[in-house]
Formats: sequence, structure tokens, C-alpha cells
Amino acid sequence: VDSIGVFDVTLTLSDRLPVFPGNPGFDRQLALVIDRGDAANVSRLDFGAHTGTHVDAPAHFFTGAPGIDQTSLDVLLGPCLVVDAQPPEGSNLAPESLPDGDYDRVLFRTSNSERWANNDYQFDRDFVAVGTGLAEAIVRRGIRLVGVDYLSVESFHAEKSHPVHRLLLSRGVVIIEGLDLSRVAAGLYRLLCLPLKIAGSDAGPARVVLEQTGGVG
Ligand SMILES: [Zn+2]
Repeated sequence: VDSIGVFDVTLTLSDRLPVFPGNPGFDRQLALVIDRGDAANVSRLDFGAHTGTHVDAPAHFFTGAPGIDQTSLDVLLGPCLVVDAQPPEGSNLAPESLPDGDYDRVLFRTSNSERWANNDYQFDRDFVAVGTGLAEAIVRRGIRLVGVDYLSVESFHAEKSHPVHRLLLSRGVVIIEGLDLSRVAAGLYRLLCLPLKIAGSDAGPARVVLEQTGGVG
């Protein structure tokens, strides 16, 4: 349950969550168990860094590039526009999805979020993603952070070279993936996104919260 004016847009980590094909699944086992005589319950976690709601770091596509521990909090906290966007069936989000205005963080709320709302945890290869043209427009506009409501910013059917990830990450645009925006209306919020500080990691699982600021997008 959200508190007033605060929306938790984080997916709950569990073994029910879909993972991007080929990525490790989520597993939590009790390593220490009170009922077995241990002093406390202690979980062991085993999952890919791109599980659920997470932030991609440049190291995801560029070996030796900065890891998630290098991502500046300056980008992860601050005013943020949530945009309602629904491209025609089978196509990616296009530059037209970017409203005019002065903002440098944008989250796209699409039909993907309905899957989270409906507890539909089957991986969907046809999820709505950011197209190359939109990625170019994001870079051109100087937008510093982009968030999407499925497990990848890039279409499952994109070129194998991953042009969208490469363009955004090479230009220092922070990517949040796996947001659940089903309970959030379009508009202006304050973003609080805190990826785990894992040395050199290509991504960090994150708790992401949107705080209502009363502005209109
Ligand atoms: Zn990722």
C-alpha cells in the first residue's frame, strides 16, 4: 500500500517474476533457519542484476565502463515526468512520445504496466520498448534519465547490436527498467531511485518511488 502522495513503482522480487530470456532467475533460500537451530533466519539471494526493477550501468554494454556504483545520485533523485504512451501495435515508442517542455528525467507508462497490475508474469516478447528514433531524440534533448515499464528499454526484436542500449549508455543516459507504473497517472513527480551500490556491476536492483509534487505534466 502506498502512503499518500507516494507511489512505490518497484516490482516485488520473487521467483514468480519473469526474467529476460537467458538471464538467471530469482532464487531466495534460507541459509540459516531458526527452526533448524540457528540463531536467526538469514536468506541467501541468487539472481541476475537485471531482475525486476533495476538500473543499467554503462558496464552493461561496454567492458571496463563505469559500473552501477559510479552512477550519480544527482541523476537518480529529482523532478521526473511520467508520460502516457502507447505506440501502434507492434511498433516501438517514437520521438513523438516526448512531450515539449523542460525536463531531464522521463518515465514511459505503457500497456506493459497492465501486465504487472494483472499479475501476468509470463515473459512477453512483444513488450513496448524505446525505438532508435526516440533514443536519438532523448540524447539530442539532453534528457539524463529514461525509465520503462518492462524488463528492457530495447525491443526484443531489435538488432542484435542493441543500438538503443548502446546509444543511451554511451551518452551517459541512465536507464531504469522494470518499473510498475500501473497505479501512477501521467504528470510531474519527484523521483527517488536507489540502485544497490555493487562495485563494477553492469546493473543494480533498485527501489524506486515517485512522490507527488502537485505539478502537471
Ligand atoms: Zn537491464
